[in-house]
Amino acid sequence: MPETLTTSTRPCPGCGARIVTDPRFTAWCPVCEWNLGAEPSRGRWRRWRRARDHARVERLYAKLAARPADLRIGRGAAWLLAVLLAALVHLCTLGVLAGSLWLLVRGYPFLKLLGAAGLCLTWLLRPRLGGWRGDPAVLAREQAPALYALVERVADELGTRRPDRLRITRAYNASYGVRGLRRRVELSLGLPLWTALTGQERIALLGHELGHGSNGDQRRGPWLHTALRTLEAWHALMMPHAGDRFRPRNGSKRAFDDLVTWLLLWCAVPVRLLHGALHRLTALSSQRAEYLADEMAARVASSAAAGGMLGKLFLKDSVGNHVSQLRAAARNRALPAGADPVEEFWTGLSAYLESVPATERERRARLSAREMTAVDTRHPPTHLRVRLRSERPQQPAAVVADRSQWAAIHRELAPARRRIAHELIDF
Ligand SMILES: [Zn+2]
Ligand SMILES: [Zn+2]
Repeated sequence: MPETLTTSTRPCPGCGARIVTDPRFTAWCPVCEWNLGAEPSRGRWRRWRRARDHARVERLYAKLAARPADLRIGRGAAWLLAVLLAALVHLCTLGVLAGSLWLLVRGYPFLKLLGAAGLCLTWLLRPRLGGWRGDPAVLAREQAPALYALVERVADELGTRRPDRLRITRAYNASYGVRGLRRRVELSLGLPLWTALTGQERIALLGHELGHGSNGDQRRGPWLHTALRTLEAWHALMMPHAGDRFRPRNGSKRAFDDLVTWLLLWCAVPVRLLHGALHRLTALSSQRAEYLADEMAARVASSAAAGGMLGKLFLKDSVGNHVSQLRAAARNRALPAGADPVEEFWTGLSAYLESVPATERERRARLSAREMTAVDTRHPPTHLRVRLRSERPQQPAAVVADRSQWAAIHRELAPARRRIAHELIDF
């Protein structure tokens, strides 16, 4: 979709410097950071916690920037404590199971009922290994031989496991997962992010994600991972309103609901504390593992491509805004009728991303630095990942793909483009 570009300049209300504005984006001043967009946190306690968390992340960064060898993950006291806490979680599940079975076998009729309820509870609290069932996002090997071949080249170059399957999603992100009892590897690639990246940056993205197979992230090991998932299942059971934000909600208005919510909130406190402790004990190792995965991205795709890929992560909200505007236009039937709306959506997204001015990219980067935003809770803040890339020695690309390989991959992704465009826009 063509964008009308009408940039203009005006004086900054904060310092008077001339600022260039684009009506599609927030006007701000790079000199005094007027209207940068960050919300100051409310409350002294929150500000203090935030400052403390930021300082921890900065300290780790400073340590890693000074001694890159520290990227290799050691198993210290924090790891041992986390393993023991995880054991406590697994023992609780086992205890409920054993107690329920005992009641079922030995108890009076009423106690047998309690045992049956306990068994149901154990089922709900069982360690979650993740399923491997039918999933529309899966792209089978037969459908995408060129993409699988590229992914496998990257995995082989890094000496890490080849994924068992690929998923193509609508996220502006990518992820690596190990699922099921057989611990099969699954690589999810968000098509909007994939579209935003150049060829070499895509290889960097594959390098980072596959790097998760051998970066030693403690949280992703089955023992700690299942303990964290179990705690989340307990919490969801006690606080059904908390959803995936893992935080109590002040929702219900009625007195009875309030009382029940309050009681459950207190029951959920030890679960939350345990979850928080496990997260904290593994947080630094997890962030270190992410920096190491970025290092692997640079090794396969070149330092420049890894830095470019990370820089594009800042544009997540811009892409979200663009898609919401298109969705609203489609709902009002205001989208121009084209020959192929799906392909136009994707070429429009690329054109939009290319048209994002340097000032907006800079604003997003500074905002991310001020807010310490990351792609998710596992990752270090994106601006620190970008900074570490620029400070490390430059590396050339070890894996490249030629024009015909990219064309084949583009053809293989056509069904996913269709599915995801319909999911996002509802033409
Ligand atoms: Zn200013
Ligand atoms: Zn990662």
